[in-house]
Amino acid sequence: MLFDVCVLNAIFNMAEQLIISVSGMRGIVGENLTASIAADYGRAFGSFLKEGYKTSKEKLSVCLGRDSRPSGRMLKLALSEGLCSVGVDVIDLGIVTTPCVGIMVRELGCSGGVVITASHNPAQYNGIKLLLCNGIAPPPDAAERIKQCFFDKRFALTDAVNFGKMTCNEQTDGVHIAKVLAIVDKEAIVAKRFTVVLDSVNGAGGRITKKLLTELGCKVFAINDEPTGRFTHNPEPNTESLKGLCEEVKTKRADIGFAQDPDADRLAVVDENGTCIGEEYTLALAAKYIFSKDTGCAATNLSTSRMIDDIAAESGGEVIRTAVGEANVAEAMIKNNCIIGGEGNGGVIDLCVGPVRDSLVGIALILQFMAETGKTISQLVNEIGRYYMIKNKYTVEQSQMQQILDSAKSEFASALVNTIDGCRFDFEDGWLHIRASNTEPIMRIIAEAKDQRIAQEYIVRTKAFIH
Ligand code: MG
Repeated sequence: MLFDVCVLNAIFNMAEQLIISVSGMRGIVGENLTASIAADYGRAFGSFLKEGYKTSKEKLSVCLGRDSRPSGRMLKLALSEGLCSVGVDVIDLGIVTTPCVGIMVRELGCSGGVVITASHNPAQYNGIKLLLCNGIAPPPDAAERIKQCFFDKRFALTDAVNFGKMTCNEQTDGVHIAKVLAIVDKEAIVAKRFTVVLDSVNGAGGRITKKLLTELGCKVFAINDEPTGRFTHNPEPNTESLKGLCEEVKTKRADIGFAQDPDADRLAVVDENGTCIGEEYTLALAAKYIFSKDTGCAATNLSTSRMIDDIAAESGGEVIRTAVGEANVAEAMIKNNCIIGGEGNGGVIDLCVGPVRDSLVGIALILQFMAETGKTISQLVNEIGRYYMIKNKYTVEQSQMQQILDSAKSEFASALVNTIDGCRFDFEDGWLHIRASNTEPIMRIIAEAKDQRIAQEYIVRTKAFIH
C-alpha cells in the first residue's frame, strides 16, 4: 500500500491519522499536522530535489501556493523554513488554486512546487501536495523516497551562507487566465453575454475565476467568493452541498452555475433550471466539445464514467484508462499526446494550459461549447445521454484487500478485467471498479450502467462477498 498510517500512528501516538501518499500529506491541523511536521516535510522535499539536481550549479527554487484555509499561513511559513534550511529558494504565490501552482512551476522554471490544501476535505484538515518541475505530482518511486527522507530525517541541511531566500510573485492570475483564454474563442463567448453564478466555497478560486468570467463577457453573480477558508457548505461540490447555488441560478435566471472545491481543481455544473447535473458531466461536456473539433486520444482513470468512451468513439477517437490519481492521467496524456483528459470528479485537464486538473479550463470549454452550438447547458447534457453511477466505500483492513479482489475476480470471471488499480470489470451493459483509496484506509466500489438496476446489482453482488 502507498500509505503508512500505522507507522505514523506509532511514531506520533495520535488518535487521528496523518496520511502520506502519492498525493502528498493530509491531516488535521494542530493534532497530527503541525508546523514542525510541515517544516520536516519541506526539508525532505528540498533534500529530494537537491539529490536530483546535484550536478547542477543553479540554485534550486520551489514555488508555493495555498488555498484559503487560515491554517495555510502557518504551514506556508513552516514549509518555507524547511525548504530554505536545505538551501532551496521559495517563491510565495499567495492564495492561489492548485492548477495555478502547476502552471507557475513551469512558467517560472522552478525545480518543484508545493500546494498547501486539503482540497474538498473539511476546514479542520489541511494538506501538502508536491509537484515536480513538470507540474505533475511525483511518481510512486519518487514519492516513496521523499517519504523515507521525512521519516529518517536525513536532510541535506545547508549553512547560513547558502540558506534559501523567500520572494513573492503576484503574476499567477494573469499567467493562468492568458493560457485559458488561448484555448477558446474569446469573442464568440463574449458575444453571448452569458449570465453565470459562481460558488467558490470561500476557497482559492473566487478571485481568479471572477476575472476569467469577466474577460469572457459574462454577467457574474458570485457567492462564497471571499478567500476566508470559512466553508459555508460542505466543500465537496456535490448535489447536496450545492443547493444554495441551484437556488441562485434560478433566482438570477442564469444560463449556468459553476461550483469549485476549495483549491479549484474540480468543477461541478448547475444547469439553467437550477439542477445540479453531477460532476461526471464536467469532463464529458469538455470532452464532447474537444472531440467535436478534433479526434485523437483522451485519458481518464478507471473510475470515470463511460460517457467519455461514447463521446470519443463518435469521432473515431479512443480513451486510455489509467490508475486513479491526477498524476497518472497527466502522464498518460503527455505520453499519448492526448487532446483532453481528466477525472470524473469534475477535473478537466488540457495540456495546452497545464498538466493539472483545472476548473477554469472546464468553465472555458463548457462556455465555448454553449456559445458555438447556441444550445443551453441542459440540451447539451441531454445529448450526451445518461448513465447511473453508484459509489460505495467500506473500511477494510489492508490484509483483507487482496482477498476481496481475488473474490471479485471469481465472482465476475466473465467480464473484461483491468488490474492496474484494484480491479475494473467491464461488462456489455456497465462496469464495476473495486479499489483501495490512496488517501484513506477504505475500499471504494463504483458501478455504472445505463440501467440503474444493473448498476445496483453489481454493487449487491460485491457487498455479498465483502461481508
Ligand atoms: Mg481539489
